[in-house]
Amino acid sequence: MTVELGTRLREVVGAGTAAALDRGLGLRTAADLLGHYPFRYAQRGEPADLGALRIGEEVTVFAQVRAANTRELPRKPAKRGKDGKSGKRPPRRMLTEIVVADEAGRTLTLTYFNQPWRDKKLTPGTWGLFAGKVAQFRGRLQLNSPQYQLLEGEGADGAEAVEEFAGALIPVYPATADLPTWKIAKCVRIALDTVADPPDPLPAAVRSRRHLMDYATALRQIHRPDSFESLGAAKQRLKWQEALVMQAVLVGRKAEAALEAATPYGPGGPILERFDASLPFKLTAGQREVGEEIAAELSRPHPMHRILQGDVGSGKTLVALRAMLQVVAHGGQCALLAPTEVLAAQHHRSIAEMLGELARGGELGSPDEATRVVLLTGSATAAQRRDILDDVRSGAAGIVVGTHALLYDGVDFADLGLVVVDEQHRFGVEQRDALRSKAERPPHTLVMTATPIPRTVAMTVYGDLETSRLTELPAGRGSIDTHVVPYRDRRWMDRAWARVREEVAAGRQAYVVCPRVGGDEADDQAGDEEPRPPLAVTDVFDELRAGPLRGLRLGLLHGRLEPDRKDRVMRAYAAGDLDVLVATTVIEVGVDVPSATAMVILDAERFGISQLHQLRGRIGRGRHPGLCLLVSEAAEGSTSRDRLDAVASTTNGFALAELDLEQRREGDVLGASQSGRKSHVKLLSLLRDADIIYAARREATELVESDRGLDSEPRFAALVGDLAADRGDYLEKG
Ligand code: ADP
Ligand code: MG
Repeated sequence: MTVELGTRLREVVGAGTAAALDRGLGLRTAADLLGHYPFRYAQRGEPADLGALRIGEEVTVFAQVRAANTRELPRKPAKRGKDGKSGKRPPRRMLTEIVVADEAGRTLTLTYFNQPWRDKKLTPGTWGLFAGKVAQFRGRLQLNSPQYQLLEGEGADGAEAVEEFAGALIPVYPATADLPTWKIAKCVRIALDTVADPPDPLPAAVRSRRHLMDYATALRQIHRPDSFESLGAAKQRLKWQEALVMQAVLVGRKAEAALEAATPYGPGGPILERFDASLPFKLTAGQREVGEEIAAELSRPHPMHRILQGDVGSGKTLVALRAMLQVVAHGGQCALLAPTEVLAAQHHRSIAEMLGELARGGELGSPDEATRVVLLTGSATAAQRRDILDDVRSGAAGIVVGTHALLYDGVDFADLGLVVVDEQHRFGVEQRDALRSKAERPPHTLVMTATPIPRTVAMTVYGDLETSRLTELPAGRGSIDTHVVPYRDRRWMDRAWARVREEVAAGRQAYVVCPRVGGDEADDQAGDEEPRPPLAVTDVFDELRAGPLRGLRLGLLHGRLEPDRKDRVMRAYAAGDLDVLVATTVIEVGVDVPSATAMVILDAERFGISQLHQLRGRIGRGRHPGLCLLVSEAAEGSTSRDRLDAVASTTNGFALAELDLEQRREGDVLGASQSGRKSHVKLLSLLRDADIIYAARREATELVESDRGLDSEPRFAALVGDLAADRGDYLEKG
């Protein structure tokens, strides 16, 4: 029998082991197993980083036995039977404690109950891999009954161990309790020894141009590296494969979309001209430039797929509105999708306001070119909803504002020409497919995001979209001062609340942001691992009202309120009837209250960099300077504190976006991570491998341009096809 990459594992490693590999790690074929790469490589004598262990984690540590000792534990008191006589005498209990240490001298205790022979095997001086779940006992970290593989010394597991670890670099695999890393290593070795060298799926031209190792060698070297050098070459090669396949999918998708037919709308149009004439300010240079790009694309018979990046307040919404008016002018309809109902309602209000009489189509005395702007949310009554849906179906409503539910809700458009997605990271291929079903022809799409996207992310997560950037803010904005405030310092906190009162006394408004709603299970847990749950908005609201902000008009806003109630609170705040809004991140994006000048973010370290930046963008939207206080317990010098300091040091969104990327775990950016779930991107890092990504983009573009179906590269085409079929896996940013 020939064993190939596609062979089922039971034919390679036997039925029992194959079942465990499938159950524990979802590995079914030889290819799956060989694609289960080590996540690090241990070296004899290296520091095992025992300092970084976290309670509850399954770990494999490479360490040396320092001491071994078995003793008898005191017997438990005998239980008394019902009759009051003492029951059976409890059994003897033996505890074996093995202390292991890394180079740095940090120690970890291994414990075994009633296995006194363990200390004969685990003799001081022996090096081994120890795998188990980290637990804590009387303040000390320990592994209870860990499995192990010894490397040398009297207790070493004979010839096999020596052979298995003869190389300098010992692969350490993502493992499970049933399958410690050395068992996986053994299976991999069997697979490497029995599987015929797979043919190389990368186009030969790319391989030679980029000096890439061949596939079979790369697979061997990543699992059983001869040296750091060959390991590096293997990783480079495998990363290239990941990048090239991904880019081929994206470039192919983009090329395909460019061939699709769409309705052209434009350019120009009376309602747009009238609107422009009514604007009380001049467009920024960026708004004009991007506006022209969009206007030209909407006028073509192919669908636009564009993402518009610009910092909070850079005027994206205005750009989008002008695009919508162009479509409306030419008989099309537009959908504006917001991530929450609060934001949808606000968009609806502000668009209606900006358009003025141009939004009162069909009403007595409104201009001929006017249209109607409707809001479709869950809080509409059945009758309201029916009317709105009629307007949408008839085409009377030129602009329909709502949440993403719009896409799935059985809403029929007369002629949906443009979809604008506001502040949305998860608008992926699936959503675009849903949209296609709304219109005979795919509508044009414009995605707006206030998180400036690092280039590598734009090229991967959004790699099938065109991108535009608004880099300047409209003139006349106040600046924002940001400070980190230590939560435990009474004087600082008093001063923070005093500043809020000062702003309110000056006729302005403030936000207080908390990470959590409250009234849930987090309130009941207080273990020693989590000193206290994150601050809850409901608690903070009560405390502020009774204490530091007594006498001010406070509003409470969070995601669990009824939509009606949320809308009322938001309206009251926007109207200036509330001084301070105590809220969760429901206010995160798009909320626009120009007289809000102060923001206090509690437990600020709980938020990501981008999130903090976006929250901060809620203030300083008017002429007055803004004040943002990041309240945190994070210790000076900790990474959390560093993040907060970074946010305090700049308001440049593009700089913070790059930093945010650095601080995120790779898996958060690209979807599935090491959990054993099948993923196409295992090694490639958006952070460290920007060069590979850019170069792969160029190669993929060339490949797709010269051979759209990739017919001359069937093996590569198969990989591209696999990934394309697995949509959403990496395209949706979490
Ligand atoms: P974004 O959606 O990018 O956060 P908005 O489009 O909501 O930004 O614009 C923020 C505010 O700036 C709005 O009140 C808008 O009316 C105003 N604005 C937009 N463009 C300009 C401009 N060119 N000059 C002055 N103000 C502007
Ligand atoms: Mg906006």
